[in-house]
Amino acid sequence: MIAVLPLAGLHGAEARRPNIVFFLSDDHAAQAIGAYGSKAGRTPNIDRLAREGALFENCFCVNSICVPSRACVLTGRYSHANGVRTNADALPEGSVTFPRLLREAGYSTAIIGKWHLRTDPEGFDHWCVLPGQGAYFDPAMVENGARQKCRGYVSEVITEKALAWLKSRDRGRPFCLLVHHKAPHANWEVGPREAGIFEGGTIPEPENLHDDLAGRSGAVRSHRLFVGRPQWELHFEKRFGPIPAHVPEENVRGWVYQRYIKDYLRCAASVDTGVGRVLDFLDGEGLAASTVVIYSSDQGFFLGEHGLYDKRLMYEESIRMPLLVRWPGVAAAGARIGEMVLNVDFAPTFIDIAGALAPTELHGRSMVPLFRRERPRDWRTSFYYRYYEAGYGLGPIEGVRTMTHKLIRYGFADGGTELFDLGEDPSEMRNIVTEPAAEAVARSLSDELTRLREQLGAPGL
Ligand code: CA
Repeated sequence: MIAVLPLAGLHGAEARRPNIVFFLSDDHAAQAIGAYGSKAGRTPNIDRLAREGALFENCFCVNSICVPSRACVLTGRYSHANGVRTNADALPEGSVTFPRLLREAGYSTAIIGKWHLRTDPEGFDHWCVLPGQGAYFDPAMVENGARQKCRGYVSEVITEKALAWLKSRDRGRPFCLLVHHKAPHANWEVGPREAGIFEGGTIPEPENLHDDLAGRSGAVRSHRLFVGRPQWELHFEKRFGPIPAHVPEENVRGWVYQRYIKDYLRCAASVDTGVGRVLDFLDGEGLAASTVVIYSSDQGFFLGEHGLYDKRLMYEESIRMPLLVRWPGVAAAGARIGEMVLNVDFAPTFIDIAGALAPTELHGRSMVPLFRRERPRDWRTSFYYRYYEAGYGLGPIEGVRTMTHKLIRYGFADGGTELFDLGEDPSEMRNIVTEPAAEAVARSLSDELTRLREQLGAPGL
């Protein structure tokens, strides 16, 4: 038995409980979303959520990789505690997740789309998920245990199935629907409706696309996640052939970047279109006022910053998750919320929204007070990060991020430590760990890292 205690719930027993629609995309970086400042991303519907709801400016994952972050979202616990440290790990059967708790509390629960946690989904009245990573075109799906072949582009298939479930929903109960998109995860296979976007245009490069990583840890230079030849061979060569001989070597990174960023943004646009269709449905059914809509992604992604793509590392673009919350009458429309929130806060938040009971051993806490622009005095001002995978020339990473600084330790290659002043150097270009003026802050962050790790009971490097 798991001990439970009531959260600071918003709803009295007599209050009508809101419905929940939770969009989670895969690898959709905040900097690719208009509301977060992207000039190129086509995200009018996600931007609508920012206008009609609240945008979180500092939402982070505690382990920047797909399966582990999803497990953190579902359980509200760090990777070492929920059993999913790497993409090879399965969510243990019987895990206590927020869908299970909401279902027990009387919600009708469903997940449509990406699951990726290896064991079959539990805690849902209805589930229809992609096996593994899933395919972009004509994807197979497993619906309540039965495999089926679907026709069409994956973002549209997921949206159609989500709408079909909403139409046939149990009207006697509040619902919690998880719409978890595959896009814009690699290999960025573009849908028919998005193929023409950006044709002939040039997407601006990030200022640090050609970062030479001077002064950064040797571990960061040793891996294989750079925009350029390794990426082209991994993701594009089969479909588009080799990099043309006329591209000079010094221009390869910029040339690959254009192909990469356009296809990435096209895939993300298909998710945005799906969000819009569900929002239109909620409007048409008169459900918008009684439904909390949340949009996020399982982690961030490098879009050429530092010359990188992918995630895993502890730099900002990788660990930052977009988070938009529309809850009419609760989340202030147009609010931008700066408090530091984490992927382990999602489960306690959903439990709080539903007025359900939360397990005592959660690492996260409910964000509901922040929706209402209340700031609990003891809200966190730092968090511990821990990455466990090997592969791509990487290895374990741990670190601590405060509101002003970040300390990163590498447990592979020749190791090393990095310290960044996020106020003066938000792009993390200057590692100040060896600078005498930073000695006190380095010591303070090192102490904070140890304190947080011990508090969580997480294993060190
Ligand atoms: Ca992911």
